[in-house]
Amino acid sequence: MSRTGAVPPILRRALRPATPHCYRHCDRPLRGRTVPISAPGWLCVYACPGGAVSVVTYHEWAKTDPTPTLLRFARSHTSPSTVVRRWDMRLAGRHGPELGVTAERFLAKARPIRPVRVVYWRLYPFKKKDGSAFRLFACFRHGVGAVQFFVAPRESQSPPCPRC
Ligand SMILES: [Zn+2]
Ligand SMILES: [Zn+2]
Repeated sequence: MSRTGAVPPILRRALRPATPHCYRHCDRPLRGRTVPISAPGWLCVYACPGGAVSVVTYHEWAKTDPTPTLLRFARSHTSPSTVVRRWDMRLAGRHGPELGVTAERFLAKARPIRPVRVVYWRLYPFKKKDGSAFRLFACFRHGVGAVQFFVAPRESQSPPCPRC
């Protein structure tokens, strides 16, 4: 059986949000990229073609709170790490009925019974003291599945990554 907390493909399909557009940046469609991490759950980064991050999601199918795992991962993959704050992360439960019939049946039969939980990390655009506006970007050029988060001026398209 899968590791505790792992999210099997049948659930991932149901958990994927409808891909919206990049809000207040470029209005192009967002793409969700799965990033393998050294934890059992499913990390997905939703960013536009210009690298602007809308939301990062981390799902676990287990009884434990997955927030510390995402917090740790985000801090070690963001420059500067000080922009990663606990209160920008929101924990929610995902339940059978909202996920559709297939996932609901799958969850109803699965043992042991455990909740599907998701942590959303949203860092909204923010202003520095001099009034300049910044937002979160992601770079995916760090090897297979790796990601580096960083902040850059809010209107930038594909800004340079400080770790590349
Ligand atoms: Zn965008
Ligand atoms: Zn990079």
